[in-house]
Amino acid sequence: MRIVCPFCGERELGEFTYLGDAKPVRPTAGASEDEVFDYVYLRDNIAGVMSENWYHGGGCRAWLKVTRNTLTHEISAVEPAAGAGAAKVGA
Ligand SMILES: [Zn+2]
Repeated sequence: MRIVCPFCGERELGEFTYLGDAKPVRPTAGASEDEVFDYVYLRDNIAGVMSENWYHGGGCRAWLKVTRNTLTHEISAVEPAAGAGAAKVGA
């Protein structure tokens, strides 16, 4: 599997680290115990297209949001994760 980093171009999988489902959002400071438990421990086990966080540690060290089909490993989109240097794209 190869990932096209928006900053570095197409690179081999070994340069990246899988960080999991990109869907969960950190609860706010006033969140209930159940909301925090869900955020920390509960994840969907999707057989199909899902958004995932990947870290390009062997390259630009950016956090990326990768849209991947977990059945075929086909990658349909790669974009900088929120707050991961999106302003650098095209610069
Ligand atoms: Zn990169």
